[in-house]
Amino acid sequence: MSVLFTRTLRFKVRPESHAWLNEAAVEVNGVFNYCNQISLATATRTDRKRKWLSGYDLCNLTAGATEYFERIGADTIQRICVEYAQKRVAARRLKLRWRVSRGARRCLGWIPFKAANLKRKGTALRFCGKTFRVFERERLEGVSWKQGCFAQDAVGDWWLCLPVEVRVEQTAAPKESVGVDLGIKDVAVTSDGERLEAIRFYRDAQHRIGALQRRGHVRQAKRVHRRIRRRRQDACHQFSRRMVNTYQKIVVGDVSSLKLAKTRMAKSVLDSGWGTLKRFLQYKGECAGRTVQVVNERNTSRGCSSCGALSGPSGLRQLAVRRWECAHCGERHDRDVNAARNILRAGSRCGTSVSGNESSPVERPLSQTSRLREAGLDAQRAAA
Ligand SMILES: [Zn+2]
Repeated sequence: MSVLFTRTLRFKVRPESHAWLNEAAVEVNGVFNYCNQISLATATRTDRKRKWLSGYDLCNLTAGATEYFERIGADTIQRICVEYAQKRVAARRLKLRWRVSRGARRCLGWIPFKAANLKRKGTALRFCGKTFRVFERERLEGVSWKQGCFAQDAVGDWWLCLPVEVRVEQTAAPKESVGVDLGIKDVAVTSDGERLEAIRFYRDAQHRIGALQRRGHVRQAKRVHRRIRRRRQDACHQFSRRMVNTYQKIVVGDVSSLKLAKTRMAKSVLDSGWGTLKRFLQYKGECAGRTVQVVNERNTSRGCSSCGALSGPSGLRQLAVRRWECAHCGERHDRDVNAARNILRAGSRCGTSVSGNESSPVERPLSQTSRLREAGLDAQRAAA
């Protein structure tokens, strides 16, 4: 069975176009700030003409504005209006933050466009009368996009982002289920004993970043930051891919990274990237037709996974205890593997996910494949 999913392809734009994009981004900011100003003014009028401007209203108000801009066209202006209206509704504010074009508080550039604005031209792309080249052009072949944007990162490089629909083949995984405990010493440990080691990306690079910042090499420091983020993401990508390919059901504890980030272990927590890993597991699992469940991880490190007695090390204070023996049944445990087993058990115990201290416990409905798979297992059991 195959399912359609939207994925965003990112292409690095070759540097010769950066200057043009920087200029165009200033124009985008102009339109955005106009939307911000006019909708604030309209929403705070004291007469009967007060109203919340919709994306449609803003498009009408900006009609014909192209003649004031050198680079961006009508389609981009309309997309800015629509996106602005959506963002303001989502933020529930009278106005959003201004998009600053210059100085230290400059916003990262953003230039949205509609499908028809970006065209192929030989080995390059054409947008608003300008020819662009991107790295890894071959990935563009056979791809059709609806709309997209150019976006800038903190280092100042520009990326072409194209959401595309891809057809994903969903097949059943070889193994049944796994529990994943998110920790500090290892980012993740599974109930089968597999580990994703925390590479101390940030701490390794800390001295370098510090030195660079003191010397005023801001761009270099940002480059190191970007490299750290990518390395961490890469490790999480690989681990989550392996989990999704191997297991049909994945149960994760609901540690709140925000809460722990306030304690003195903040740096390790932010370093380990739990949020990233959870997000990857969720979207990859959804794509592949897996069940990804988030459960309350209360008592998962204290409880013995063999007999259930609360005889293990508790909380943050006994974090140093890595291995322990159950006083009740005598079973020897590795702290993290034991916790992962408890998480797995919590996942099978409650059909629905338990909400913990994190705002959104995510319960993925059983996909078609896992239902089919369960039906198949039932049939096998009946036959046996
Ligand atoms: Zn025990």
